[in-house]
Amino acid sequence: MYDLLVVGSGLFGSVVAFEARRRGKRVLVVDKRDHLGGNCFTQRIEGIDVHRYGAHIFRTSDRAIWDYLRQFCEFNHFVNSPVANYKGELYNMPFNMNTFNQLWGVVTPAEARARIEAQRVPCASPRNLEEHVLSLVGRDVYEKLVRGYTEKQWGRPCTELPPSVMRRIPLRFTYDNNYFNDPYQGIPMEGYAVVMQRMLEGCELRLSTDYLAHRSELDALADAVVYTGAIDGFYGYDLGPLEYRSLRFEHETLDVDNYQGVAVMNFNDADTPYTRIIEHKHFAFGTQPVTVVSREYPAGWQPGDDPYYPINDRRNAALYARYRERADAQSRVRFGGRLGEYRYYDMQDTVKSALAKYEEWFGAESDAGDRGG
Ligand code: FAD
Repeated sequence: MYDLLVVGSGLFGSVVAFEARRRGKRVLVVDKRDHLGGNCFTQRIEGIDVHRYGAHIFRTSDRAIWDYLRQFCEFNHFVNSPVANYKGELYNMPFNMNTFNQLWGVVTPAEARARIEAQRVPCASPRNLEEHVLSLVGRDVYEKLVRGYTEKQWGRPCTELPPSVMRRIPLRFTYDNNYFNDPYQGIPMEGYAVVMQRMLEGCELRLSTDYLAHRSELDALADAVVYTGAIDGFYGYDLGPLEYRSLRFEHETLDVDNYQGVAVMNFNDADTPYTRIIEHKHFAFGTQPVTVVSREYPAGWQPGDDPYYPINDRRNAALYARYRERADAQSRVRFGGRLGEYRYYDMQDTVKSALAKYEEWFGAESDAGDRGG
């Protein structure tokens, strides 16, 4: 018999499992995939940690979260500086003085600001993403760096997307290609899979096990359940499925030591069918004689496909609220993580949420457990 069954060995489930083990609980973790780690999983191929479900760069401004994860790994000094490729023209990201120099040949911040100001199409209340972006940055940045990429990502023209898709457009008037502003950033030196392995030490782990297919048998093994799978799936989609955007990854090992010279290259034109190529070795300054690259294709989603990005529109928000109401009405199963809460969480937010939820759900009994040994 276990004190806790954790469904899903992603970051949320792994933090919850670690916190329970740390307090002396017996924990069973099941995952329907054949590996642990959820979407953060890295698989070592030719000595290279391959981010199987898309580039995962850890960053935070919260020292406590950084230190929490550093119990399980050492981070390297990787800094995310992606390059945008528009029909063979290369631009630094995020939009900064390097980008403006590449676009227009301007050198000073004043020149860049004047260029943007001259192109902006002011609009007091933009009705769609196109109007919104044109009002903030003007035509060149929109056409070359925003439109094609965003339309591929969401499978819809920018004129049919809400401004909220890109509420803020970070413009930097310094020569700074660091994508993130956070002071703490990096990639676990031994890969994310090792981080999760360490978090799950002492737990029983059953992989390739779909909780929903073995629910009564698994429920009978534990006093409480933390479920990090899809909330609508838990209820058999009986109110209808929540919608997602999905992704397809094409991984390839190439017999060259350096394919594109950067970890993340975005393809911002509408014609290239993928949005990004990731060259994994550059996350770790790898010197292997070969390289592994992954092309990332945005895709529509149907029940059964891998869900990646929740579609936060009114219909889905209302549907989620109905599933949530049911979930809140029961206390034996707790729902958490990006699928259980139907929201996009960065890794730092996932860790924060898992720690807070653990306290909320089991805090009092844990304290008693801690005292009692
Ligand atoms: P998941 O990682 O999805 O884990 C859920 C687990 O539950 C999975 O292993 C799944 O197999 C399992 N499961 C589901 N249903 C069942 C079931 N019925 N039975 C058994 N097991 C089940 N964050 C960053 O901070 N930086 C980044 O650079 C970054 N890049 C990202 C890139 C992409 C493409 C995506 C999609 C996300 C990215 N994220 C990034 C976010 C990050 O992936 C999430 O914060 C994190 O994975 C959330 O963890 P989770 O445990 O909630 O979910």
